Amino acid sequence: MQNGDTLPRTALVTGGSRGIGRAICLRLAQEGLAICVNYAGNADAAEETAHLCAEKGVEAFALQGDVSTAAGCTALVEAALARLGRLDVLVNNAGITRDGLILRQSESDFDAVLDTNLKGAFFCAKAAARAMLRQRYGRIINISSIVGLRGNAGQASYAASKAGLLGLTKSLAKELASRPITVNAVAPGFIATAMTDAISPAARTATLAAIPAGRPGQPGEVADAVAFFARPESAYITGQVLCVDGGMAI
Ligand code: NAP
Repeated sequence: MQNGDTLPRTALVTGGSRGIGRAICLRLAQEGLAICVNYAGNADAAEETAHLCAEKGVEAFALQGDVSTAAGCTALVEAALARLGRLDVLVNNAGITRDGLILRQSESDFDAVLDTNLKGAFFCAKAAARAMLRQRYGRIINISSIVGLRGNAGQASYAASKAGLLGLTKSLAKELASRPITVNAVAPGFIATAMTDAISPAARTATLAAIPAGRPGQPGEVADAVAFFARPESAYITGQVLCVDGGMAI
C-alpha cells in the first residue's frame, strides 16, 4: 500500500478520551478511519468518545493504557494492533502538566512530565514503527506545543518535553522517510480544554492578550491540522511543525 490508497485505514490516538484527543478521534473517524481511543483513567469519557466515533460509521473502541512507561506503550500498541489488524496512523497526544518555578519543581514532577509527554511518544512510536515498516505505510503525528518552541516561565518540564518532541519528530522523520512513513508535529497554542481550564484567571487574561487572533483555539481546530498530516496525500510532507495558535508564536 504505497500511498495508503487501499483501505481500510486505522488510527490509535493516545489520550483520546477528552479534550484535543477526543476532537482528533472524531475528526479521523469522519475521514473513515477505524479508531482506537486510548485513555489512562477516564473510562467513561473514552467510551463516550468511541461511541461518538462509531456514530460516524467506523469501528471504534476504548483501550486503557498508560503511556508513562515503556511497557505500557508496548502493550498499548500491541493491543491496538490486535484489534485493528494494522496501524496506519499514530497520534501521540497524551500529555500532562506539573507546573512550577524551577526552585519548587521536584524531580518526581519533572520525571512524570517527561515520562508521559516525551518518552511515551518515543515508546509508542517505536512499537508502531515496527508495524508500519512491515506495512510500508504510516503516519506518526506528535502533539507538541508552542511552549516547546518559545519556553514559558513556570513550565520548564512541560516545555522541555514538548521541545524534545520536536527533536524526536525531525529525527524519526529522517529515519523513516524512505520506508515510507511520515512523522510530523502539531504545536497548539492556547486551546479550550480541561488543561487550560486549570490556569488562574490572571494567567488566562495575560495569555489571551498575547494571541493575535484574540481568542482561544478550539480542539477541532487542532484536529483539522492532525487530519491534514494523516491523509495519504500528505506523503511528501515530513519532519514539519505546524503551529495552531491564532498567531501566538509569530
Ligand atoms: P487534557 O484535556 O488534560 O487531556 C489529556 C488526555 O491525556 C486525556 O485523554 C488523558 O486520559 C490522557 N493521558 C494523560 N496521561 C496519560 C497516560 N499516562 N497514558 C495515557 N493517556 C494519558 O489535555 P488537552 O488539553 O486535550 O491536551 C492534549 C495534548 O495537547 C497534550 O499533549 C497537551 O500537552 C497538548 N497541548 C494542549 C494545549 C492546550 O491549550 N490545551 C496546548 C498545547 C498543547 P484520561 O482522561 O483517561 O486520564
